[in-house]
Amino acid sequence: MTNQRGLLIVLSGPSGVGKGTVRAAIFNEKDVEYEYSVSATTRQMREGEVDGKDYYFVSREEFEALIEQDQLLEYAEYVNNYYGTPINKINETLEAGKDVFLEIEVQGAMKVRERMPEGIFIFLAPPNLDELEERIVNRGTDSRGVIVERMQKAVEEIKMMQHYDYVVVNDEIPNAVKKINAIIQSEHLKVDRVVDKIQSQIYNYFQEGINQL
Ligand code: 5GP
Repeated sequence: MTNQRGLLIVLSGPSGVGKGTVRAAIFNEKDVEYEYSVSATTRQMREGEVDGKDYYFVSREEFEALIEQDQLLEYAEYVNNYYGTPINKINETLEAGKDVFLEIEVQGAMKVRERMPEGIFIFLAPPNLDELEERIVNRGTDSRGVIVERMQKAVEEIKMMQHYDYVVVNDEIPNAVKKINAIIQSEHLKVDRVVDKIQSQIYNYFQEGINQL
């Protein structure tokens, strides 16, 4: 029997909610069965990051060439840098029966929803807005104006929650990880995914098994 196609899992949510941290915690577990989709970006590499593992770090010209050659499933501009999902490995990995995991911002997730509606869209939400503000403030050296602007943008992004399949509140990282893994596990148990396998077992039983009675 051919492999069953893997699941496309999209983890997204507002800026500052901790998507990167939750994703890192998922991929730090042992025996992870998902393939992380490494994005391309034009932003500077941060300390400790590895090219090809955290991101493919490319120039603006290289990124624009990827757009022109239609090599990205989606892309978005975020804080003056491009971020995008290379399409080439995604179909190949799904066809091989492996789940693909994307961690992207909200605009990009909505574009993936249009192109691959069969994906599983998980929205990571902040426990409350005060905590989100605290995370945005603690992140860096933003002025009050910039913080207000980021909070307004985050509130707009939170409203996009209704376009997702699941919401996970990021109260504690291990809780969020557990819930995300549980969602993926349940998706694998959906009748639509299991039915073909069972039907071929029934078919084989009547073709061969019954003769052995
Ligand atoms: P950072 O620069 O902190 O690594 O990421 C900034 C934002 O870009 C995060 O919200 C992250 O989820 C998002 N991001 C990372 N890769 C992609 C991508 O391929 N496409 C889109 N649309 N967003 C991405």
